[in-house]
Amino acid sequence: MKQLTILGSTGSIGVSTLEIVAAHPDRFRIIGLTAGRNIELLAAQIKQFSPRIVAVALKEDVPRLERLCSGMDVKIVGGVEGLIETATAEETQMVVAAIVGAAGLVPTAAAICAGKDIALANKEILVTAGHLFMEMISTHGVKLYPVDSEHSAIFQSLEGHRNEDISKIILTASGGPFLNTPLDQLSGVTVRDALNHPNWSMGKKITIDSATMMNKGLEVIEAHWLFNAPMEKIDINIHPQSILHSMVEYVDGCVIAQLGTPDMKAPIAYALSYPERVATGIQPLDLTTVSGLTFFKPDLEKFRCLSLAYRAIQEGESMPAVMNAANEIAVEAFLEGRIGFLQIAQIIESTMDAHQAHDLHSIEEVLHADQWGRTTAREISKRLTN
Ligand code: NDP
Ligand code: MG
Repeated sequence: MKQLTILGSTGSIGVSTLEIVAAHPDRFRIIGLTAGRNIELLAAQIKQFSPRIVAVALKEDVPRLERLCSGMDVKIVGGVEGLIETATAEETQMVVAAIVGAAGLVPTAAAICAGKDIALANKEILVTAGHLFMEMISTHGVKLYPVDSEHSAIFQSLEGHRNEDISKIILTASGGPFLNTPLDQLSGVTVRDALNHPNWSMGKKITIDSATMMNKGLEVIEAHWLFNAPMEKIDINIHPQSILHSMVEYVDGCVIAQLGTPDMKAPIAYALSYPERVATGIQPLDLTTVSGLTFFKPDLEKFRCLSLAYRAIQEGESMPAVMNAANEIAVEAFLEGRIGFLQIAQIIESTMDAHQAHDLHSIEEVLHADQWGRTTAREISKRLTN
């Protein structure tokens, strides 16, 4: 029986994780859950999974959750300290890091320091503080399992092989809803168009990241840290069908890939049950019914966010954290209808132009760079819309 805590249980990954837990009550038990603002859903999850402890992001939401859960045997805490207490709950063996954005940094770091294995969905953690997190993972001797579908595919394609035999890691990308939209029409696309992802159903932020292809930029950085791979060995192939989830090419010319119906329950289940596999209820893949698998290079001029991610990687140090912060602010502004789609890249670029990259030695310093990026991006966004 594996004892789990889910950070971000009310999100898309959190809910899919709980579906797997519900299907395998003999294997998994929920110890802790955390949410942002969706108190009603969290209350329903408490009723179904009986965690010992739960946390909400804001202390002011604690009394409302207590009312919804009156008579239930659960400890309810709030704020960053509450998230940390839940992330480090003693009986927990594995923490599923599924908060969106840099907000997941502190509780996930606390879980690692408390010796918990990590199933990682929250890619922004490795983007902003990859070197610190990988160091913490090794210092505390914990295991890190990727949940992101591409990274799970790479993880599976690497099994039984030597790192020195890798010649290339090839991340696939669907290309998002605007793959075939000409650049001159991108300025007029709406929030609804951008949220209409062709293959995956996900939270809003990552869905917009997929439309701008910033998501793939974040994933290149994520792969760099997870697999200790130099940037020049990581390629991107657009693969609109999202059937082949990523691949590894070896020095002998052999390529090993992982394929499957696009459903996040597969990589989540593998992270939870590794090295075993459990049933997920996913539709089996029948390649004879797939009309064709195609692969081509991304258009870096059209998807400016992807080039900005490469620039952040090159400049290194605090630049990826600042880029990530600016992206979070710009995506939020787009979702709220305050800026147009192409202004997302504009805000990120101007924020990066204003930043002088510097070394980051601690999580506090990462949070400081993150705050600087947010404040600067907000000012730039205001200027753009005035
Ligand atoms: P969602 O937006 O659906 O869920 C995010 C979760 O984080 C929710 O539980 C939300 O709470 C919580 N949350 C948000 N802000 C805060 C905060 N400030 N403090 C504490 N908790 C907070 O996101 P996804 O599930 O789509 O994505 C989660 C992570 O996984 C992201 O990093 C994403 O890039 C990554 N990922 C997601 C995939 C997917 O298919 N969805 C695929 C691959 C990676 P609430 O809703 O209660 O406010
Ligand atoms: Mg992915």
